[in-house]
Amino acid sequence: MKAPVRRERAEWRLVVDWIKCDGYGLCGDLAPDLVALDDWRYPMLLPTPIRGQLLEEAQRAVDCCPALALRLERIPKDPR
Ligand code: SF4
Repeated sequence: MKAPVRRERAEWRLVVDWIKCDGYGLCGDLAPDLVALDDWRYPMLLPTPIRGQLLEEAQRAVDCCPALALRLERIPKDPR
């Protein structure tokens, strides 16, 4: 799912499809504030909700993933 251009107060998270991910590590290079890389250059996603400026960084990583293994997922609002 692509994040909307209009930035709401919504929060997002990055999700990896581990079947597709080839571990090239491009996402970690493009979004170092959100993705750390292990010794084999597989991504380790940081658990922080993504919003604001970081959303652009995340979207760039999603768009450039050569294996189409990365996506942005909206975090459902707490109904309370
Ligand atoms: S850019 Fe895509 S294929 Fe490469 S490590 Fe990140 S999620 Fe995996």
